[in-house]
Amino acid sequence: MSEAGAHPADGRADAVAAGLATVERRIADACARAGRDRDEVTLVVVTKYFPVSDVRLLADLGVREVGENRYQEAVAKSEECADLDLRWHFMGRLQSNKAAATGRWADVVQSLDRAKLVTPLARGAEEREGRGPLDVLVQVNLDTDPEEAQGRGGADPADVPALAEAVVAAASLRLRGVMAVAPREGDPRAAFERLRAVSETVRAVVPEATYVSAGMSGDLEVALECGATHVRVGGAILGNRPTNG
Ligand SMILES: *Cc1c(COP(=O)(O)O)cnc(C)c1O
Repeated sequence: MSEAGAHPADGRADAVAAGLATVERRIADACARAGRDRDEVTLVVVTKYFPVSDVRLLADLGVREVGENRYQEAVAKSEECADLDLRWHFMGRLQSNKAAATGRWADVVQSLDRAKLVTPLARGAEEREGRGPLDVLVQVNLDTDPEEAQGRGGADPADVPALAEAVVAAASLRLRGVMAVAPREGDPRAAFERLRAVSETVRAVVPEATYVSAGMSGDLEVALECGATHVRVGGAILGNRPTNG
């Protein structure tokens, strides 16, 4: 990953700072409107497709939580940033043949959505040295149209409790909560309210699984009104991604 040649370095630093400030203001305003404490909310900046130089700019601006969705890119970038105090979230489609490696590498896996991934993920997490259990969120599919649900990732809400129990049963994993992406069509509020209900079901069994990761550049306000504890924001901070991701 080389420095982005397209941007004069200073201009890029200013642009990233401005994007971050805008999103911080949006989060603060949404929390104020919803009567929530800003400290309840964690911003995860999604750096996928953006160069390591941007990750460094974000770290300089105080960002500690970053998200990636492709294993190879994520590992390469995090290795180049080993000197920085960052928490790396994986939020992409988890492939069976990469699940163990992802469990070894990530600080948080937000996208567990199939029971057969629990064993390899847990095996990878066991091999980490001195890092404690791996934080895991169960990704929930919020599409009401079964055709749309196909291939988008996320467990059917009905399957989430069993998946949550499988995570709890694995000593090297720590269930932290749920994650979802709003459906492409329709009202994100209705979807995020469904996620809130799923979260309540999970917390009835695992009270410490309090994370609700919902909300991206376009819908973070709605997500925060519906109880999101984590928002995952890329474009609104870093601009258009070089390729569609
Ligand atoms: C890319 C991505 C995001 C960030 O999306 P933006 O619209 O750029 O804010 C959030 N969550 C997931 C799972 C993603 O893949």
